[in-house]
Amino acid sequence: MRCLALDIGGTKIAAAIIENGKVSNRQQISTPQEDPVTALHQAIAQIMQSYAGQFDTVAVASTGIINNGILTALNPKNLGGLADFPLQESIARHTDKPIGLLNDVQAAVCAEYQDQDKSAVQNFVFITVSTGVGGGIILDGKLSTGPNGIVGHIGHTLADPNGPLCGCGRQGCVEAIAAGRAIEREASRWEKPCSPKEVFELFRKNDEKATALIHSSAKAIANLIADMVIGFDVQKVVLGGSVGLAEGYLPLVQQYLNDMPKFYQCKLEPAKYGADAGLIGAAYWMQMQHNS
Ligand SMILES: [Zn+2]
Repeated sequence: MRCLALDIGGTKIAAAIIENGKVSNRQQISTPQEDPVTALHQAIAQIMQSYAGQFDTVAVASTGIINNGILTALNPKNLGGLADFPLQESIARHTDKPIGLLNDVQAAVCAEYQDQDKSAVQNFVFITVSTGVGGGIILDGKLSTGPNGIVGHIGHTLADPNGPLCGCGRQGCVEAIAAGRAIEREASRWEKPCSPKEVFELFRKNDEKATALIHSSAKAIANLIADMVIGFDVQKVVLGGSVGLAEGYLPLVQQYLNDMPKFYQCKLEPAKYGADAGLIGAAYWMQMQHNS
């Protein structure tokens, strides 16, 4: 089965044909910022035309939340002018093939899950710690999306009721403490302001302030993992994202996890799929839908 996979992000849109997990004919364009609604309809039309006759299904991984075919977000401002964009309808104008839509982290967990031993691991979570914190959740071997597409927004679970205000409007979310944006906000207030990358360099040189900041992020993620394990009997967590995969970060999360009672522990591994996780994962999910 040939799948046309699209990955719609805040800054770029990628498209490719995925067949048996192999990526071919990959294209990438910038996500339109001006007059974004008209421009995204046009970009989709162009992509659909350029792959005409080359696919049997369409699978889309998108930033935000896909609620019944419509693009939305916890904080619609994050989508610029694209909040409430009719994604399903925009694609269906150009094809009568089956169309599947997911958010990008839900797609990424599918990519990471495809190589797992399914008899050993049925409950599996992917956590990305990047600008924000997001997750994808597989339960009983199946991706969970929920009636409103929200499942996996675990960056917005509580880390500290007295913590900083989160972009979603709630106080003390994991994301407000652990994400790259949170690290950046804190380090920008230092006497010598630092970027997240510089914070990690200082952390690896045992700088006291940088170490404390990275530790509070890693501890929040370890607690998030523990919550997933105790709440959903999760057997394995894969950690990705620019912060999640930064040198020295995962071992720190592992260390905090090891300090917890054993009921809260599970296997922890780094993510394997990079920039193509959304494309490959969306296509894999579509194939699973078809087969079941
Ligand atoms: Zn939040």
